[in-house]
Amino acid sequence: MGQRLQVVWFKRDLRLTDHAALRAAVGHGPTVGLVVYEPRLWSLPDASGRHAAFYADALADLLKDAQAHGLPMLVVQGEMLEVLQRLLAVSGEGCDLHSHEETGNWASFERDKAVSRWCREHGVSWFELPQNNVVRRLKDRDQWARHWDERMTQSILPTPADAIRAKPLSKRLAQGIEQQFPNGLFDQTKLEPLLVPWLEKAATDDCPGRQVAGRAQAQERLRSFLDGRGLRYRGHMSSPGTSETSCSRLSADLAWGVLSIREVVQAVWAARARWQSELMTPGLPHPDAKAMLMSLKSFESRLHWRCHFIQKLESEPQMQFRCLHPATRGLRNEGELTDVESQRLQAWMEGRTGYAFVDACMRYLQHNGWINFRMRAMLISFASQHLWLHWRKTGEHLARLYTDYEPGIHWPQIQMQSGTTGINTIRIYNPVKQALDQDPTGVFVARWAPEYSELMGQPPAPVVDHLEAAKSARDRLWALRKDGQAKDQARHIFEKHGSRNPHREGRPKTRKTAKAENTQTDLFDLQG
Ligand SMILES: Cc1cc2nc3c(=O)[nH]c(=O)nc-3n(C[C@H](O)[C@H](O)[C@H](O)COP(=O)(O)OP(=O)(O)OC[C@H]3O[C@@H](n4cnc5c(N)ncnc54)[C@H](O)[C@@H]3O)c2cc1C
Repeated sequence: MGQRLQVVWFKRDLRLTDHAALRAAVGHGPTVGLVVYEPRLWSLPDASGRHAAFYADALADLLKDAQAHGLPMLVVQGEMLEVLQRLLAVSGEGCDLHSHEETGNWASFERDKAVSRWCREHGVSWFELPQNNVVRRLKDRDQWARHWDERMTQSILPTPADAIRAKPLSKRLAQGIEQQFPNGLFDQTKLEPLLVPWLEKAATDDCPGRQVAGRAQAQERLRSFLDGRGLRYRGHMSSPGTSETSCSRLSADLAWGVLSIREVVQAVWAARARWQSELMTPGLPHPDAKAMLMSLKSFESRLHWRCHFIQKLESEPQMQFRCLHPATRGLRNEGELTDVESQRLQAWMEGRTGYAFVDACMRYLQHNGWINFRMRAMLISFASQHLWLHWRKTGEHLARLYTDYEPGIHWPQIQMQSGTTGINTIRIYNPVKQALDQDPTGVFVARWAPEYSELMGQPPAPVVDHLEAAKSARDRLWALRKDGQAKDQARHIFEKHGSRNPHREGRPKTRKTAKAENTQTDLFDLQG
């Protein structure tokens, strides 16, 4: 392919190892890595300073790693089509674009369609390769699990250092890039200036407890979890006090691609073999081996869920703004908020709903950029069910607060907890019971919402009566069941999005099991 320039567009894949697009590019010819700060995307309501701060950390690490391996990196600010136009002008023989298959928010989906059109019109080949178990143009879920085994068992791709060095950029190409993008090519002296757009965005947010990003930090989080930190994973994962250290805390590393999911899955398999042999040690089995094996099983199933959820948004990108089940559209106010709704939204966002545990969780999340699964579910359930707010604005607020914002997990989870998918069990979390279950000593509330436990404290009055509000939400959701068409629609949704694991979505529940689990039966009583 001569001097045709190969461009690796780094998006949510900030690493050099197990990077299929990089591997493919360097096999074709002289390669440059490209990272673009796209102002339009970073100004959307689901983007935040903590995302940018994490990205900047990870990018700094990536740039140094790339330099050590001889890979030139171009870091620019601009909209993607304009950047591509300028890149094309650099190489007389044209260029090819390589990236991972991104399942991002709606704007990135639209951007990718525009890039695809532009590439076709300008004779640029765009090679997109999967980096997880999400399948493009998937017809239905029947064979989905098979792809997991195929993809996760493939060998981890080492950084292609030799191939990079074998085909360096020619002087002419390097000069052309410098001319088009003055000071855009990375060298050690330019690190700070290149990170400026992300750092400026980061300065708009305050998240003192945010995780630090970087390949070494991510690997250490993984190692420590598998070597023993995950011992009480299952028992500790739902309490905000204990989950901080007992959960893996790998979500942001995975969301921004500092680690590939295959790296994590294969590390779990290796750890499982180690703990298995500890268990088998004749006469002296390791005392933690059994519990660790249980933790690893549970953890691995969550890695499956990760792709299972992202697949939903991949197959239906409108899930970011439209209720999945048609019968649930218009259930909550999708237009301009009334005064009462605005006040409720504000109280919820600021952590002053009058419910100590809800408020403590919101403030903890604001401070740390992370909270565990159960508390995420409770926060959105409280907003959608008790406060009866449409999930769009509340979902955007949470997206901004999560450093690990992953649109493909986030929006399907937001809809699931809001009862708008039609195929998931509806849970309405009782905020008082959750406090008793997950913070029995009150130490978490005392730390994050002290006005509720201090003798002289003046907590805000409850914004709603939670029992009445929950009943009202339940009645409204159950009323939908009278709609005859709704079950057919739910079946159709299940065909497209439902897990084929009988223990997950679509599992028919009797009223008895639902009651025992403190849940309702599936909204439309799906017998999938
Ligand atoms: C309303 C709501 C929004 C959410 N938004 C996000 C999001 O934007 N980004 C995100 O990464 N997770 C999201 N989750 C899922 C989950 O809460 C987080 O992945 C988890 O808390 C991250 O902490 P961890 O890495 O220590 O998880 P661990 O328990 O150690 O799990 C390991 C990994 O498995 C995956 N995972 C775990 N739980 C789930 C789940 N329920 N669904 C899908 N994947 C899962 C994540 O990649 C996680 O890093 C959301 C959950 C809810 C209820």
